[in-house]
Amino acid sequence: MEDLTDSIKNLRAKYREIFKTSAKEIEKRIDELKPAGVGDVFDQYPPKSAGALWQTSVLKMFDEDICREIYRKWSEILAYRREFSCTGCGTCCRLACSEFSPQELKIKAEHGDNFATQFLSAFVPYASKEDARRVYPEYITMLEENKEDEVYFYHCPKLNECSRCTDYENRPQICRDFPDNPLALLPKSCGFNAWKQEVEPVALMLHSMLEIVEYYKAHIPLRN
Ligand code: SF4
Ligand code: SF4
Repeated sequence: MEDLTDSIKNLRAKYREIFKTSAKEIEKRIDELKPAGVGDVFDQYPPKSAGALWQTSVLKMFDEDICREIYRKWSEILAYRREFSCTGCGTCCRLACSEFSPQELKIKAEHGDNFATQFLSAFVPYASKEDARRVYPEYITMLEENKEDEVYFYHCPKLNECSRCTDYENRPQICRDFPDNPLALLPKSCGFNAWKQEVEPVALMLHSMLEIVEYYKAHIPLRN
């Protein structure tokens, strides 16, 4: 049986290691910009002082260098996905998960959220979690063991009994783009698993770098 809980544990362990390496690398880049005689990058410095100018240059380096590179590499990962194909197993049509309830999605769609609008154009909620469990029991068990927040389960009524989309030409963009994140768990039957395995180490590294940069950006005091 496919043990998704082990997969999640392995992924988390890999992420912790990659995160540590990325944190050291970013710390090194920050130190390279550091003028002599200043303290920590999170300290408060008087406006226009060497420390404050350092903080500004660090934030600039994040935006103009690291984030741009993350975006470029992430785009490459998504472009490379086109080398792989859907095998038509239908699992992603039979079971879609969201942290949002149908009502919350409806409100989001009414407020112009494009993803929510597309999602609701395809998916309807399962009557119960047990109905969803019948489709993909290992996935539901994994969520129960790992996810603290509520998860809502959906399926698309346009999938026929032969696992074919009955409205293929008009399927929404979210269906055409799935999977759009190599860090998402994919069913074993998904034709994009080879893509996921190949790009996962780089995707984990990019994700960790973004997380670290966001932390710095949120905690560096801006005094200029
Ligand atoms: S619209 Fe078609 S491709 Fe999209 S979820 Fe439904 S059955 Fe699948
Ligand atoms: S799970 Fe993957 S292979 Fe299966 S229908 Fe969805 S995209 Fe295609």
